[in-house]
Amino acid sequence: MLIYKIPLACSDDQGMSVLIKNCDWIVTQNPSREVLRNCSVRVEGTKITEIGNLHGDAEYVIDGSRKILLPGLVNTHTHLSMTLMRGFADDMRLQEWLETKIWPLEQKLTGDICYHGALLGCLEMIRTGTTCFMDMYFFLKDVARAVEKAGLRAILSHAMIDLFDSKRSESQRRITQEALDFIKSLQSSRIGFAMGPHAPYTCSEESLLWSKEVAERERVPIHTHIAETRHEQAQFEKEKGMSEVEYLAKIGFLSPRLVAVHSVFLTGKDVELYARNQVKVSHCPVSNMKLAGGGVAPLSEMFAQHVNVSLGTDGAASNNCLDMFDTMKFCALEAKAHYWDPTVLPAQQVLDLATIEGARALGLEKKVGSIEVGKEADLILVDLKSPNLVPIHGRSTVVSDLVYATKGMNVDSTIVQGKPLMINRNLLTLDEDKVMEEASSAALMLTG
Ligand SMILES: [Zn+2]
Repeated sequence: MLIYKIPLACSDDQGMSVLIKNCDWIVTQNPSREVLRNCSVRVEGTKITEIGNLHGDAEYVIDGSRKILLPGLVNTHTHLSMTLMRGFADDMRLQEWLETKIWPLEQKLTGDICYHGALLGCLEMIRTGTTCFMDMYFFLKDVARAVEKAGLRAILSHAMIDLFDSKRSESQRRITQEALDFIKSLQSSRIGFAMGPHAPYTCSEESLLWSKEVAERERVPIHTHIAETRHEQAQFEKEKGMSEVEYLAKIGFLSPRLVAVHSVFLTGKDVELYARNQVKVSHCPVSNMKLAGGGVAPLSEMFAQHVNVSLGTDGAASNNCLDMFDTMKFCALEAKAHYWDPTVLPAQQVLDLATIEGARALGLEKKVGSIEVGKEADLILVDLKSPNLVPIHGRSTVVSDLVYATKGMNVDSTIVQGKPLMINRNLLTLDEDKVMEEASSAALMLTG
C-alpha cells in the first residue's frame, strides 16, 4: 500500500519531509556495503537524516514493503536529445552510421527539438531509476530547461567540435563560455557544468588544452570520448606515431578532472597513464558492443591499477535505451565473456560502478551515490512484486537480483534531492503522454 500526498506544486519545494517506511531491503552502498532488512529512511528537505527502525510521520509516507531501496543510479555518459533518434539507424558500421544517418540529422537540430528529446530522455531515466547523469550535446540551454522541469540531477556539457579549424575553435569556445555562464546563472544545486571537447579526433590541441584550463579554473569535469574504436587508435598510430592516450599525455591533457568516455582500445601503457594521471573512465558496454568498434574495454587491467570506472549508456541512437539496469547486466556479461571468467565483475562491483563510482567520476561522491545520513536523498525503489524478482533468497542475493534480474521498469519510485519525481509509478513532474507526443512530433521534424 502507498500513502502519499500529491504536492500542490512540484517546482522547487525542497522543504518536504519524506519517510520511506518498512523497506524489505535497503542496499546502502555505504563503505561497508551494508544491506539492511526491514528498515526505514527519513529525509528532511534535501538530505537523509535517519536510517533504521523508524516511527513517526512525515509529509510523504511511502510504503517500502516488498521493495528494495537503493541509491539512484548515476549515468556518466549520455547525449540526451538523441533519444529522438532511437531506432532510426541500427545495424550499421560506425562511420556509415555517422556520415549517412546521424550527422545529416544533426544539421536539422533546433533548440526546441533538443528540448523535447531531452525531456523524453529525462522521462525514461525517471522511469528506470537514473537520478543523475552527465550529458554532452548541443543547445545546452534547452537541455537544461528539460532537466530543470524533470527534476533530475545533471552535469551538462556542450560538445565542442572544431575539426582543427581555428575559426571554428574560436566560435566553439564562445558557445562553451556562454553555456558555462548560463549554468552559473542558474545557481542550481542540481545542474552543473562540464567542459565537453568531443574527442581528440575532432578537436585541436588548442581546444583540448583550453578546455582543461577552464575546467581547472572552474573546478568542473572534462567530458571527452577517447579510444572508442580500433580505427581511431590506428589513425593516431599512423599520424602521430603514438596511441591516442600517449598523445593526450604528451600535450598535458590528462587529469583527474577528465572523464574518458569509452576507452575501449587501450594498451597496457595507456592504462598506466590513466592511473598515473587519475583519469576516470565512463564505460559504455551496450553502445560499444552495438557499434562494434573493435575490442572490449580492459576493465580488469583498469581495476588492477585502481582507475575509477563508472557506467554510461551513451545516446539512445546507439543503445537504444537509457536503462542503467540493462547497462549493468551487459557490463557484467561482456567482461565475463571477454575474460573467459565468470568471477570477474561480480554483481557488487557492477552496482558500485553504477552508483558510488559514478558519483566519484563526477566529483559528487560526498553528496550522492550511497544511502548514508547527511547525504542528499537521491533514491529509488524497486518493486519486488514482479515475476522476474521472485524469489529473493536472502541478504546475500539482493545485489545479484538488482544487477542480473531487475529491469528499469521495475523501478516504482524515484526521488532526487528529497523531492519525489515518481511515486508508485505516478509521475509528479512530467506529463508522460504530453512528453511522448511532443517527442514524436519533434522526431518527425528531424526524420520527415
Ligand atoms: Zn557518446
